[in-house]
Amino acid sequence: MTVSANLGFPRMGLKRELKRVLEAFWRGKATEENLQEIAKELRLRHWTMQKEAGIDIIPSNDFSFYDHILDMSTMVGAVPARYGHSGGDVSFETYFAMARGLQKDDKDIVAMEMTKWFDTNYHYIVPEFDAGQSFSLSSTKVIDEYIESKEAGFDTRPVLVGPVTYLLLGKMRSGGGEVLDLLPNLLPVYEEVLEKLKNVGASSVQIDEPCLVLDQSSKALASFTSAYKTLGDIDGLNITVATYFGALRDNLDVALNLNVQAIHVDLVRAAEQLDDVLAALPDDKALSVGIVDGRNIWKTDITKALATAQRAVDALGSDRVIVAPSCSLLHTPVDLDDETELDSEVKNWMAFAKQKLNEVVLLKEALNGNKDEAVYAENEKAIESRKTSLRIHNQSVKDRVADIDEVTITRKSSFEQRIQAQHETLNLPLLPTTTIGSFPQIPELRKIRAKFKKGGLPREEYNSYLEKMIDEAMVFQEEIGIDVPVHGEYERNDMVEYFGEKLDGFVFSKNGWVQSYGSRCVKPPIIFGDVFRPKAMTVRWSAYAQSKTDKPVKGMLTGPVTILQWSFIRDDQPREITCKQIALAIRDEVLDLEKANIRVIQIDEPAVREGLPLRRDDWADYLKWAVESFRVSSAGVQDGTQIHTHMCYCEFNDIMESIAALDADVISIETSRSAMEVLDAFIDFKYPNEIGPGVYDIHSPRIPSVEEMEKLLNKALEVLDPGQIWVNPDCGLKTRGWEETKPALANMVQAAKNIRGRLAS
Ligand code: GLN
Ligand code: ZN
Repeated sequence: MTVSANLGFPRMGLKRELKRVLEAFWRGKATEENLQEIAKELRLRHWTMQKEAGIDIIPSNDFSFYDHILDMSTMVGAVPARYGHSGGDVSFETYFAMARGLQKDDKDIVAMEMTKWFDTNYHYIVPEFDAGQSFSLSSTKVIDEYIESKEAGFDTRPVLVGPVTYLLLGKMRSGGGEVLDLLPNLLPVYEEVLEKLKNVGASSVQIDEPCLVLDQSSKALASFTSAYKTLGDIDGLNITVATYFGALRDNLDVALNLNVQAIHVDLVRAAEQLDDVLAALPDDKALSVGIVDGRNIWKTDITKALATAQRAVDALGSDRVIVAPSCSLLHTPVDLDDETELDSEVKNWMAFAKQKLNEVVLLKEALNGNKDEAVYAENEKAIESRKTSLRIHNQSVKDRVADIDEVTITRKSSFEQRIQAQHETLNLPLLPTTTIGSFPQIPELRKIRAKFKKGGLPREEYNSYLEKMIDEAMVFQEEIGIDVPVHGEYERNDMVEYFGEKLDGFVFSKNGWVQSYGSRCVKPPIIFGDVFRPKAMTVRWSAYAQSKTDKPVKGMLTGPVTILQWSFIRDDQPREITCKQIALAIRDEVLDLEKANIRVIQIDEPAVREGLPLRRDDWADYLKWAVESFRVSSAGVQDGTQIHTHMCYCEFNDIMESIAALDADVISIETSRSAMEVLDAFIDFKYPNEIGPGVYDIHSPRIPSVEEMEKLLNKALEVLDPGQIWVNPDCGLKTRGWEETKPALANMVQAAKNIRGRLAS
């Protein structure tokens, strides 16, 4: 018999209960007991849901108060010295200090670094190691949660992040050495945990090693093999090593020959690996087939998925096959049934975590000879309706994408010619000053926007409120002497959602939250159909701002790659096509801005880097269409119209060529936190166009002084041509207050003026 498994369930709760209690706890408004109580209730609720869906193998320890990698760090006692942990169980206070930093009494301890979990929008806390450090069991969470599940009547399969992936995701802090050198010190803790789990009754564990889908050194591959030689020898404990987010490719042999009982493979992201896996899987191993997409919100084509799973069953026998989602369902919202306001046609094409579990079970049942024909027929109808719906398919959009050619993506003249035309039209001083677009979103604005969105405020009143805000922003920018002012982005609460709401082909869920980090959740827009722009989206606001000044106002748009990257995307066409459709919509907006006499237009692309594929071999293809998409958006303008782009939280070194290929006239980048080190990439590459290295770190309320910013600019001047440099903050100011924004920007303008004076003399 084939069984069904789940690899992980969203933690937050349908109503984001965990978020609420966590934030209350941090504010001192909830106790540790409140926190434990809600957590316990959520775990029980989620185990029950999975059992009721008919899942045979239900995970435990997939729950986390903040992050599952941080949980591993506490499990193995990898607590950096600055938190003053003196052994024993890691306390809640230490745990949250590691996640969020701690300012209490005379203590001021910074948090651990956070970064993206593979190519998802989930962020994990990066483990920090010292050379030769030792590990010891410092949290029994995984054991406690197993016992808790058992007492509640569920014999769960505990989940751990595997030792090699855990180390590879971490960083050596001091004294050099390689993270993998720590493996011998780390393994005894894993052995101890596995022994303990076995002793309290666990019969199987899931150990996640997603790093097996990345490019790996031979040393790393040898580490995988040796780790499981040790861990796999615990009698009576069945280990499944889970891989996901891609194909095993050149790591396939190592993965399939680990000393464990089963391997999980992702057949959604990497359907093509099935034949190779089936051919190479040793006879004594079972295969967990990930055939329901854990990364998206679309209904599975269960007839097609069944055929895939059947191939595994035919090759291996039904006892050796387990049916599962492709990865943990952490990356999907909880329950589609809760979406009562969603367009019913589109809703019929979708599945959230709960619905995906039903699909897994339907597949398992069919493999075991109990195919529910009626449900399969219904699914087929939904899949068919999505394939052909006119809501999705817009021939003129498809034609337009097909017609994109060199002319579409190439500016009329070279940068040298354009910049001359721009200098003539814009008439800017040396080291022109500007901002990245947004100004503080004060509580009043948020309140008024929420009221308007709920229908409690007439559109005219809302618009005049926004105009009043813009008036104030324009007066302020005039006063301090910003050379290229912005309108302030008051009409948007989010740089992707705002555009999604104005474009055809997007829908929004009411409760489709997914965890981004800690208690922070995002509700990604859902791109379901061909994207196009029925009418102008921002022109009104930029034009209004322009009517208030003689200086050139900068129009503000979000770029196609960033809109793509921060949405749930279609699974029925390549990312490239969806991206180019968005790019055409942005192009139309760019041209409308130009027509409205906006001479400077910024297209933000902070997400370009995070869209990079997990494997180096796939980078070139992605970068090609990502660059083309940006150029589709931007290249239609006249020479005298200046295109800016903006990027942040990004290492540039290895993608410099592509950044230059965007051919933006000006790029602003985040640099102030790393004291302009980021600039090195631009200098080494001899970046030809204009650059605005951020001189004001907007992530903190600190007000940088004139001297401080002058210093940064002087640094930039050492390596860049003065005619090449712009002066701006690191990023948008929407999360800041005016109290600090006003003096900081005034200082920034003064710093630019001082340097101009010096250069002139
Ligand atoms: N224009 C956006 C803003 O100013 C850019 C935000 C970003 O880079 N993430 O808010
Ligand atoms: Zn930014």
